[in-house]
Amino acid sequence: MNALRAIDLASNSIIVEAGMRLQQVQELASAHDRLFPLSLASEGSCTIGGNLATNAGGTAVLAYGMIRDLVLGIEVVLADGRIMSQLGTLKKDNTGYDLKHLFIGSEGTLGIITAASLKLFAKPRAIATAMIGLASPQKALDLLIFAQQKCGEAIKAFELIPRIGIDFVTSHMTVRDPLSNRHQWYVLLELTASAPTGMDELLTSMLEEALAREIIEDASLAHSLEQWQHFWHVREWMSEVQKHEGGSIKHDVSVPIHHVPAFINDVTRAIEDLIPGARPVPFGHLGDGNIHCNISQPIGADKQAFLARWDEVNRLVHGLVVHYKGSISAEHGIGTLKRDLLKEVKDPIALDVMRQIKNTLDPLHLLNPNKVLPLK
Ligand SMILES: Cc1cc2nc3c(=O)[nH]c(=O)nc-3n(C[C@H](O)[C@H](O)[C@H](O)COP(=O)(O)OP(=O)(O)OC[C@H]3O[C@@H](n4cnc5c(N)ncnc54)[C@H](O)[C@@H]3O)c2cc1C
Repeated sequence: MNALRAIDLASNSIIVEAGMRLQQVQELASAHDRLFPLSLASEGSCTIGGNLATNAGGTAVLAYGMIRDLVLGIEVVLADGRIMSQLGTLKKDNTGYDLKHLFIGSEGTLGIITAASLKLFAKPRAIATAMIGLASPQKALDLLIFAQQKCGEAIKAFELIPRIGIDFVTSHMTVRDPLSNRHQWYVLLELTASAPTGMDELLTSMLEEALAREIIEDASLAHSLEQWQHFWHVREWMSEVQKHEGGSIKHDVSVPIHHVPAFINDVTRAIEDLIPGARPVPFGHLGDGNIHCNISQPIGADKQAFLARWDEVNRLVHGLVVHYKGSISAEHGIGTLKRDLLKEVKDPIALDVMRQIKNTLDPLHLLNPNKVLPLK
């Protein structure tokens, strides 16, 4: 089920079947001079149905939101076999409960999504991208606030990268250091606009001012496609290169944006106390408060012995997430891996309502049984 059902340029919408790959939706939008903004490293293989079921986020959430924000309607097969078709293209429809949001992010536990009506946007005519070197996550946060003030809605991506991540990428991929000097932290910042000119100038003047105010240490703008790809490859290979450094204990968490520097600081210190030599590699979508807080094993340590401490490290990191009123799953979902953790972090009343919804829509627990909801 991967067909295009309709595209409507007046209402800026596209209706596709759930098996269509994300990249194909992007290409269809582009062929009609529109943008479908969801963008993930897995876009060549993941499907719209999977994206919806996991409420995927990616690198453009800052500007466009999670996929939940990009949906006008869905078609779902319910557990009892009925098909609920809500594939409208209306932006305004206040006729009771907005049922699509129950199924988006439900990880296939409430129904099988078979098609979706998605929002399209104006295609950007101008893109300006910079790799920026700075001293700390606090400086990165200062830059985010300053950039929001100067560039407003033009900010499309604001990705934080630690020096250790750059070292991993330059060691394991054929890619050079993105800036001429070493910096402790990096931000990949991208602006876009539907007007064709002015973005490079806006980004340059904002960065010059940030340099004068000592928020940043250095920056380089992408002046060619090759340079743009170079900057994005550095960011996108962040997960992949950790595999070459031995065991990595992963966390996909979010905290309120203003707490990100304190959170990273606390995790770094606590991990050092727990496993001396373990190497935190916190990176990701600072603009959304979403940090992929992965911990690489100490150099030369035994991989299996390190990975055996997975739960202990999870507890430490998730404890700090809860302390800062964050989420233990920002965009990768619950599945079975985090299922039993939900009991510790979710409001018991909310959890109870989730169970009631599951029991109503799927009383026999036929759909993705034992996922998401903790076993009693
Ligand atoms: C390299 C890589 C990078 C990624 N980067 C990001 C990122 O930046 N941001 C982010 O949010 N996520 C990211 N992800 C995870 C991402 O959410 C998934 O890749 C994608 O959204 C899932 O789509 P899929 O088609 O692969 O689904 P699958 O992995 O096949 O399925 C995911 C879940 O959804 C259920 N499901 C699948 N299709 C349907 C359907 N039609 N109806 C109901 N349930 C269904 C499945 O049963 C399963 O529980 C990344 C994954 C990879 C591998």
